[in-house]
Amino acid sequence: MQLYNKLSAKERAALIDEAGEDRLTLSFYQYAKIGNPHLFRNHLFIAWDELAVLGRIYVAHEGINAQLSVPAQNFEAFKNFLDGIYFLENVRLNIAIEQDAKSFLKLKVKVRDKIVADGLNDETFDVTNKGIHVDAATFNELIESDDVVLVDMRNHYESEIGHFKNAVTPDVDTFRDSLDLIEEDLRDHKEDKKLVMYCTGGIRCEKASAYYKHKGFKQVYQLEGGIIEYARQVEQLKLENKFKGKNFVFDHRRGERISEDIISNCHQCGKPCDTHVNCENEACHLLFIQCEECAEAMNHTCSDECKEIIALPYEVQKELRKGIPNSNKIFKKGRSEKLKFQRKA
Ligand SMILES: [Zn+2]
Ligand SMILES: [Zn+2]
Repeated sequence: MQLYNKLSAKERAALIDEAGEDRLTLSFYQYAKIGNPHLFRNHLFIAWDELAVLGRIYVAHEGINAQLSVPAQNFEAFKNFLDGIYFLENVRLNIAIEQDAKSFLKLKVKVRDKIVADGLNDETFDVTNKGIHVDAATFNELIESDDVVLVDMRNHYESEIGHFKNAVTPDVDTFRDSLDLIEEDLRDHKEDKKLVMYCTGGIRCEKASAYYKHKGFKQVYQLEGGIIEYARQVEQLKLENKFKGKNFVFDHRRGERISEDIISNCHQCGKPCDTHVNCENEACHLLFIQCEECAEAMNHTCSDECKEIIALPYEVQKELRKGIPNSNKIFKKGRSEKLKFQRKA
């Protein structure tokens, strides 16, 4: 009896070839009941550390959400390790299109309450009653019909640099906010419209689709594997690409180009640009879009104030930061009154 299906040697070789680099950037998630997340966390850390796996991994009672960089030569051992865990056997691995050997530089495995900070109270609805998963080809067909509302389930700074044509892109800071906004907008169409949703890798839609069904939407669809898997299928099956721009990703690459279109602007000079950066001033760290010219002129900072601060000796900067909480990291992604050309609400 075969206990688990392995990828064929050829499939594996193809994955490794695709990488082109020495390391593969990939992500996966799985909802599963984990009795002791701390024990599981340690198990992962010991095994992956040995394989020189890097990345950011969240483990909770409800499952695992992992974004990783795996040495190509250890990919087979890594895959075998996953297949040896019953709820991760043959889990879909979202392999990045653009590879960067430095996508992650540390291995961080953290135990959290939830694997996505979605602000939802899971006790109040049936999280297993999900939407219908569709592949890229079906998705392409679906989003052309008149009775469809296509919704981007990501945050404003993510959809700003890339999204599907005709998608509703809520201008919100949190996932929780977007859920309410969309429900409000569509309250009269819960039965006659098809609600089609997508996100980066599919994980956010898993809960969102169940939430909307709970809220009375009758026809709910979700893009299987998100934009990452969509882009892979489009390339592999030579489908029409309906995604414009870049897919924002949560590693050092920040974004993965899906089409040549540049749909956003430099937040400082307004010219077409879709490169996200963090303000060089450690006390600020604002995430915003900055072109190369502005980066040079502003010394990689978001404002004149920050430019002045980073010109100070490091010890003085540290002194200035004392006791001041760094709120930009959490609350102000892509938003600051100092940025002249930021996306308007
Ligand atoms: Zn600029
Ligand atoms: Zn700044």
